[in-house]
Amino acid sequence: MYSGLIQRVAVIAGVHGNEWTGIHLVKKFQQSPELIERSTFETLTLLANLKAIEANLRYIDKDLNRCFSKQDLSNLELVASYEDRRAKEIAALLRPSNQPNVDVIIDLHSTTANMGMTIFPTSTEPFNLGMCDYLSACYPEVRVCFGERYGQESPLLRSLAPYGCVIEVGSVPQGVLNARQLQQTEMLVHAILNYVDAHNQGNLRLTSSNLTVYHVLCSVDYPRDAAGELQAVIHPQLQFQDYKPLNPGDPMFLTSTGEMISFQGKTTVFPVFINEAAYYEKHIAMILTEKQQLELKAV
Ligand SMILES: [Zn+2]
Repeated sequence: MYSGLIQRVAVIAGVHGNEWTGIHLVKKFQQSPELIERSTFETLTLLANLKAIEANLRYIDKDLNRCFSKQDLSNLELVASYEDRRAKEIAALLRPSNQPNVDVIIDLHSTTANMGMTIFPTSTEPFNLGMCDYLSACYPEVRVCFGERYGQESPLLRSLAPYGCVIEVGSVPQGVLNARQLQQTEMLVHAILNYVDAHNQGNLRLTSSNLTVYHVLCSVDYPRDAAGELQAVIHPQLQFQDYKPLNPGDPMFLTSTGEMISFQGKTTVFPVFINEAAYYEKHIAMILTEKQQLELKAV
């Protein structure tokens, strides 16, 4: 286990302004801060994209969750978009000059894909893997997914702190509150805060010697014509089948004339973010992952 004490944790929502689950919860925590207080560290809350939340849009000018690379944050001339300005404000709040930096970020999101409870850890640091192990022991249905490897130049908000994760819950439409996903997100936030508290008190032991994880391989776009118009939609047999094995030859898309387009890969993969509403503009129909067993070692 990582031996340093955690001093500050930030629970953040509204990086995407139309993902209401986390926004609703952070507002609840702001009204009742005792819910997220723990004795061994300070917990902050933050609503990230204020203008997008007000407008019930994912963003105003650009995706805020692509504005946090070191290079962009230090570029003082990059202020044309609201999100570039807000990213600099958020970085200053989480890494203030007169107080300790935030050590752990819990970044709350939701998805229109059927991903249940998924966490995307910030990194494979032992502290983060210990957190995955702890959450998996509390809630065996939680899935652990490692996203794209951005390295030092990650543009994601979660890269502002060394520890923590993104929580994705779904499926839930944008701009909708669903009690089930609210409860799941709140459960996970409390479990992570309890993990940090137990870590600070030296009360942690790994519960398992390995962990099932999903590693992002690549994204797949919809078939499109030369003008970029969609030529096919997600095949009905694949809709809502996130984390289920997709084998070579399995149905992937259905064209407007009713033809099936099959998966052309050579190995079985595990798609996630299938038919995520926000990803049409990113040219992503789904993200393919591989399933692995990760060995956990006590440090
Ligand atoms: Zn989001």
